[in-house]
Amino acid sequence: MNIALLLEMAAEAASDRVALVCDGKRWTYGDLLDAARGAFELIQESEAEYVALLDESSEAAVIAVFGAALAGVPYCPLNYRLPDADLAALLGRVAPALVVGDEERITRIAGDQGHTIFSREEFTLKVQETVPEPDSREYDPGEGIAIQLFTSGTTAAPKAAILRHSNLLGYILGTVEFASADEADAALVVVPPYHIAGISALMSSIYSLRKIVMLPNFSPEGWLELVHSEAVTNAFVVPTMLARIVDAMEKGVTVNTGSLRAIAYGGGKMPLEVIHKALERFPGAGFTNAYGLTETSSTVALLGPDDHREALASDDPKVRARLTSLGKPIPTVEMQIRGENGEVLGPNEAGEIYVRGDQVSGEYKEKSALDAEGWFPTRDAGYMDEHGYLFLSGRADDVIVRGGENMSPGEIEDVLLTHPAIADACACAIPSVEWGETVGAALVTREGHDAPSEDELKTLVRSRLRSSRVPEKIRFVDELPYNEMGKLLRRKVKEVLAN
Ligand code: ATP
Repeated sequence: MNIALLLEMAAEAASDRVALVCDGKRWTYGDLLDAARGAFELIQESEAEYVALLDESSEAAVIAVFGAALAGVPYCPLNYRLPDADLAALLGRVAPALVVGDEERITRIAGDQGHTIFSREEFTLKVQETVPEPDSREYDPGEGIAIQLFTSGTTAAPKAAILRHSNLLGYILGTVEFASADEADAALVVVPPYHIAGISALMSSIYSLRKIVMLPNFSPEGWLELVHSEAVTNAFVVPTMLARIVDAMEKGVTVNTGSLRAIAYGGGKMPLEVIHKALERFPGAGFTNAYGLTETSSTVALLGPDDHREALASDDPKVRARLTSLGKPIPTVEMQIRGENGEVLGPNEAGEIYVRGDQVSGEYKEKSALDAEGWFPTRDAGYMDEHGYLFLSGRADDVIVRGGENMSPGEIEDVLLTHPAIADACACAIPSVEWGETVGAALVTREGHDAPSEDELKTLVRSRLRSSRVPEKIRFVDELPYNEMGKLLRRKVKEVLAN
């Protein structure tokens, strides 16, 4: 069990096929495997206990993940956008590592932690120059750690989630057919290398023998241009990216995107308005909403292209509402909704989402979050309807508890967003002397509209929900804080509402 097998099988089946296009440079499957074997030598020489990446997406990230796998050392891509102090702390948690990336910055913030540091260029050159010993590769045959990923830290300090070779292979072998891509198939990977979505896109593209096109820094224009120039067939985007792509197209950026057959999105809540527009803009593409977590090696549930088409074409409001759902659990994953006392709930009953399956690690460096039967509590709140469609109401940690009554911010936001002058909304708990917690809301006004009065908004919420859901405090802001994966940073909104 080793993820390096994915690249080895691909290189054996199609050594000369283009595997990766990055910054105009092309790598075949054979080139990538040779480089990964060179990286293996380099990692062994360094005696590093981790391979860390502090860089944007590049060929170095691909080589490093497989080189680390061959060497049996955890690969640990870090969020280079974090401030120095946070990064130094994360680098301290993976010392000593072979670190690839911004050499000057790494040396400055963590040069005394015993790391072996390479710039991206130096690493890429060195691994190509290094000739591996013919039989020097020794897989970790057991349940070794393939990847250690720090979660984005939207709810708390980043946790070191551990993904074993068996978890990642469980996901890939369970969901992707080997060599199933046509030679012309190309996947555009734009999510940063430290996010599970980027890693799973990489693994599944390699195993299906699809060409990977990397876009290190997202811009809607750059994304559209690459779709055209590399005849991209498959793409994954987070909601904020799709919103910006559609916006750029509306503002007149025109390129031929006819090659696109499949667009997957996920990582955060997709606004209904954006998906409607995207479905119009890309009529030839099948859309998939993918729901997953770092701890589950990515996707555990999805709403596929047929569901999107059916929802769009239906007159039945329940079927149309499926566009706001996360679809159904994938066949290799079991899912349950559980109540406060751990009891398994039935259809349409809201509780916490639990998952189980080979791909579900649920493990952190310090401890495992799996229960005795292997179930992982996602900390996401939601319910499944009578047809098995999963609806997310938010993070369990985001639930607002007003005088003992639990309410999800999502239901309040959905109502506020029906107001024509509201472009974006975030509801969250604010302290209350009377109730312990009560509802606060930060809102963004739509361009060209005046901000509605607080009374009007409160009346709107009262007309649709119980009066306990009516926000007691409303603030208008220029924009809501999202991280680069399109996740709303509620704790920052809480700070704004506290003042
Ligand atoms: P932390 O646990 O440190 O707060 P994080 O939860 O943001 O970080 P990730 O594993 O990157 O770390 O994110 C997983 C979460 O993203 C899920 O639990 C869910 O809340 C949200 N999510 C993922 N996919 C979707 C989707 N398709 N639609 C809505 N939300 C999604």
